[in-house]
Formats: sequence, C-alpha cells, structure tokens
Amino acid sequence: MQQHSGQHLISAVLDMREIPTLAWALGETVSYVELPRKLTDAEIVEVEDQCNEYIRQGLDITVEVPNKEDVNTTKLPDDYDTERGILRVVHIGNLDNNPCCGTHLSNTREMNSIVLLHQQAIRGTNSRLHFLIGDRVRRFAREANAQMRATASHLSCMPDEIGARVEALEKKLRAATKSEKALVEDMAAADAEAADAELAAAGKAYIYRRRGGFEYFNAVQRKLSPFKGFLVLASGTPGAPGELMVLANESATPTTEVADKIKAVVSGVQGGAGTPKRWQGKVPEWHESQIDELAALMKAL
Ligand SMILES: [Zn+2]
Repeated sequence: MQQHSGQHLISAVLDMREIPTLAWALGETVSYVELPRKLTDAEIVEVEDQCNEYIRQGLDITVEVPNKEDVNTTKLPDDYDTERGILRVVHIGNLDNNPCCGTHLSNTREMNSIVLLHQQAIRGTNSRLHFLIGDRVRRFAREANAQMRATASHLSCMPDEIGARVEALEKKLRAATKSEKALVEDMAAADAEAADAELAAAGKAYIYRRRGGFEYFNAVQRKLSPFKGFLVLASGTPGAPGELMVLANESATPTTEVADKIKAVVSGVQGGAGTPKRWQGKVPEWHESQIDELAALMKAL
C-alpha cells in the first residue's frame, strides 16, 4: 500500500509538471514509473521535495464510488469493462483523483518518505525513474550501508574513499595488463627464437610455461621463423587446468598424430580435430607427473 499509494503521489506531482506516467511497476524494494523523457537532476530534487512536502501535510487518501457517468474513463485501462465493473476513484486530498481498484493508505503521512533514485533510458527517449517509499527507504539504507561497508573493508579504506580507491585500482590494473601483455610478447619472442634453433637442429621443439595459454601460444606462432618439423606448446600448473598446442610444418608427423601421443600421457585432454598444421586442446587438470611425462615424451619422439 505504501508503494502503490506513493506511486499515485509521485505521478500526481509529475502530472502538475505535465509529465505523464506511461507505465509503472512495483518491485520487491525499488519501484519505477516510466516517463516520456529523462528528468534533469534539478527536477528530481524538486519532485522529491514536493512529494515529501505532501507527505508532511498529511493529506487524506479517500475512496469514492461515484456515478459511472461522472468518471473520466480516458484514464481507465483499455481492457476494463465499464458496464460490468465497479468504478472507484481514489483521492489524495484535493491533489489527485484517479480511478483505481487497488488498496491504499488512508493518509499520505503513512508513506513516511519518498526517495527518487536513478533513471534508466528505455524505448528510445522514455525514462524509468526509480523510487523508494516508506519502510523500504530504511531497509534500503540499511542494506546499502552494509554493502558499502563490506566493500570498503575489501578495499581497506573508509566508505567515502571507495570511489577514489576503485579509480586507483582501475589505473593499476590497466598498467598491469599493459605490462603483462608486453612481458608475454617478450617471452614469446625469446621462446620462439629458442624454438627456431631447436627446430632447425632436431625438427622438433617443446615449450612449457606455467602461465600463458592460447594468447601466448599465438604470440609464439606469430614470431616463429618458417620451420620444418613440429612444435608442442603447453601451459598450466599442477592442480589447475591448462592448454596445449601442436604446430607442424612439412613434418613427417602431422599434428594429430603428435596429439594422440600426448593424450596417452596427459589424461582427459579435450581437443578438436585440428588440421595437419595446427591442433589445440585443453587439459582439465594438470598433474605434476604429467608435466614430467610430457617432457620425457618430447625427448623420445
Ligand atoms: Zn491505486
């Protein structure tokens, strides 16, 4: 009833500004009215102040069952059968008269307070204006405060420092990502150079890195010189999932054949059909022994 009667009040105040309510929905905590345009920040404050002023004034909310002929039926839902249905008009003091079959508070004071929240663009230029009413204002404040304090605790800062702390973390993360990318490129260049030499000497090469994955494998592939033979790339740490790739060029052994031999020592490998020149697969979980066995296999091949 608080939310529903409150929505009547918000819509009435918006009507005074010739902003019609096109739709509305009452949520578990947060509700909204859909309006034909976005309100300015100043309008939000003014509408909220005005709603709370009417709450303070303690306007009676009354229900009237008038003669059907006296009711403005343009405000009724299209599917409402006015012949058979009962018509009720809900009044908020002298402020608003609205046909409605809902249950309402008896005085605006019972709304306690109204808080207008964020807006959300919808259906082109329409805007959903979200709001809280009554007991939900306190509940929301309590929950938001708890959430804010938990976040501050995670970030080891005071609640009012969360914004600045997150901004600093974002900056740090961007720098770390950039740096990691450069390191992966450098590592791939060095590994590709070593693989070039091994491939030239033995027609095969093996690279294992604890971290890297397909992004790193692809970087190695980009930096490799034209080669003959096959190259196996593996990444991942014991106890965690990992990645495998086999590349082959003018090799007597196609990638799929190498992959089959790998699958015999590394259990559970999931890989596609691949092509004679490129095969890739995923290791669900590396075991310490498998990493050793794969290195031994590469020596033996
Ligand atoms: Zn109503």
